[in-house]
Order: sequence, then structure tokens, then C-alpha cells
Amino acid sequence: MRLLVTGAAGFIGSNFVHYWLAHHRGDHVVALDALTYAGNLANLAVVRERITFAHHDIDDLPAVQKLLREHQIDVIVNFAAESHNSLAVLRPRVFFQTNVLGTQNLLEAARNVGIARFHHVSTCEVYGDLALDDASAFTEESPYRPRTPYNASKAAADHVVRAYHETFGLPITITNCANNYGPYQFPEKVIPLFATRALTGQTLPVYSSSANRREWLHVDDHCSAIERVLLAGTIGQTYHVGSGVEVSVAELATRILGQLGLPLSRIETVPDRPGHDRRYLLDSSKLRSELGWRPAIDFDAGLAGTISWYAEHRDWWRPLLERAPVDEKAWATSVD
Ligand code: NAD
Repeated sequence: MRLLVTGAAGFIGSNFVHYWLAHHRGDHVVALDALTYAGNLANLAVVRERITFAHHDIDDLPAVQKLLREHQIDVIVNFAAESHNSLAVLRPRVFFQTNVLGTQNLLEAARNVGIARFHHVSTCEVYGDLALDDASAFTEESPYRPRTPYNASKAAADHVVRAYHETFGLPITITNCANNYGPYQFPEKVIPLFATRALTGQTLPVYSSSANRREWLHVDDHCSAIERVLLAGTIGQTYHVGSGVEVSVAELATRILGQLGLPLSRIETVPDRPGHDRRYLLDSSKLRSELGWRPAIDFDAGLAGTISWYAEHRDWWRPLLERAPVDEKAWATSVD
């Protein structure tokens, strides 16, 4: 297979490139990234000799078409996005520019050149939130009810991807995934944020709505799910990727402090973010029953391994602390 992976220098994109090359040794990967503040070539260092890196914006039609032709790409996997909910509250426009128009540009390039598959990576957040005591979960048929600019931009992108399938027959698949955790996640997101602050003697900022919870999936399990969909998924279909493991933000803070042997007095309660979703939970039975996918990484072991990774890779994350695009207070109170 010859893949173009967009957003490949980000958290999930880089883990996906590592995963793919470990499991498909003969395949060719072109890693495209605009290298925004969230993109980091160091994330690709361990595979640098085995890939072609292309420094482009997904919104650059001639550049994307040239890559598709020159590398005879079969499959595009689109991870590129502005991904930080808290930043979207402060600077919404770039989220729509990249996540909606950038995705539309990639689709247009794929339509013009011709490819075997356009796989789009989306989120559980397009469905809005669930009440904390609601027993239901979002299915692939649930109505879209995004509540934040980030969620709205991802929801719009999903619609554009489906429209290119319905209107132009482009061979697409979509996965909507729960919150990911693992190595190489930018320290603006909650688990690396808590880990790096704990490791540097700072407080862990927990929103006043600390009972809000998320469904957590290890990034390697997300990669194996995308692999299943690329190899066995049905064109035009959407698949949910979730672990079923829900953990509150307060509990995360407690566990991280516990692992590092630090006192609970390090937790600091801060005001809530506007539009902060209470809870998401995905019903991923379609992916499990139709394609036989299962998450393989236990949450307790995965979280412990991730915290250890941050403790052992200070040289990776220290320079990133200077690259946060918004003021310290807004950034520090980020949850997803
Ligand atoms: P990330 O912010 O770590 O990485 C995004 C990457 O996209 C960065 O390397 C950035 O430089 C690049 N990028 C941004 N704008 C670009 C542009 N215009 N052109 C080319 N590259 C650009 O994000 P992530 O957490 O790795 O998320 C990857 C994808 O997965 C996103 O689409 C996100 O919506 C989705 N997703 C993430 C999660 C999660 O928990 N992190 C959950 C579900 C879905």
C-alpha cells in the first residue's frame, strides 16, 4: 500500500505512522504536515529514514495533487486538524479553515487524481454530550449536535466527506474515536498536561465540573482500529472506535499524582470552560462485530505506561511548553 498520512507530525498521526510501518514493513508512507505549533518532526524521528516527509498545508491543492501523482498514493488517512477545544474557544476561525476547507481540499485532490480510499479520522464530540447519569451511548446513527467550535468544525468535515462519497462516488470511510492517550501527545491535552505539571512541581488544574468524564482509548488501539477499517471496512461506512472505559477528570488527576507519589493537595480547582461537554460514550459494537476489532490495552496499564513515558522523555516535552499558542491560564485549564 502507498499511503499519504496527513497531520503525521501530530500525536495520533505520528503514532499511526510508527504503527503502520511496524506492521506493514514494505509499504510506502508519505507523511504530510503543516507543522503548526502542534506538529513536531521529533515525533517522526524513529521512522525518519523510512518515510517521505512533505511540509505542506492540506489546503494547498497543487501540492497535494503533486504528491498523490508522484508517489502513486492509494490511500489517504486524514488526521490533520486543529484539535484543541480550548484554543477553538479563543480562535475559532482557523478550526473551520483547516478542519472543514482543508478536508474539502484533500477530497478535491483525491477526486481529481483518483485514489482507492480516503479515510477520515473524526471524533465522538460531533454528537454533543450525554448527561452524567445517561445510560445510553452514541451510535453511528445518532444525530450530530456539536456544541463547541472544534466539534462543529469536525462535524462539518464529516458531512463534507460523506457528500464527496454520495455526489462524486469517492471511496471514503470514517472513524469517530473516543479520547486518545499515549506517547507524543502535546502537553496541552489533559493527561500529558497533568503529567508534565506534576513532574515540574506545579498544580493540576481541574475544572469545577470535575465529575465530567471521557471514554479513554490508547492511541495504539486507535491505530489498530483504523488498520482494520482500511483493510476490511466497507466503502461509505462510518465506524465508532471506543474502549467503553470511562474515567472522570478528577480521577485522572488523582491517579497521576498517585503514580508519581505526589499529594492530592496538588489539585487546584479552576473555573469551567464555556461549552464544556459533560460526557461522551461511543457504542463501538459495529466495528467489533463486523470487523472483529477489540482494544488490546488495559486502561490502568496504558495510563501507567504513558505517565512513565512522560517521566522518561522530558527532553521531548520541555521545548513544547514554550510553543503553547494561548495564554498560560487558558492553556493550563484545558481538558480535551
Ligand atoms: P494534533 O493536534 O496532535 O495533531 C494535528 C496535526 O495536524 C499537527 O501535526 C498539525 O501540525 C497538523 N496540521 C494542523 N493544521 C494543518 C494543516 N492545515 N495542514 C496540514 N497539517 C496540519 O491532533 P491529534 O490529537 O493527533 O488528532 C488527530 C486527529 O484525530 C484530528 O483530526 C482529531 O480531530 C482526531 N481525534 C483526536 C482525538 C484525541 O483524543 N486526540 C480523538 C478523536 C479524534
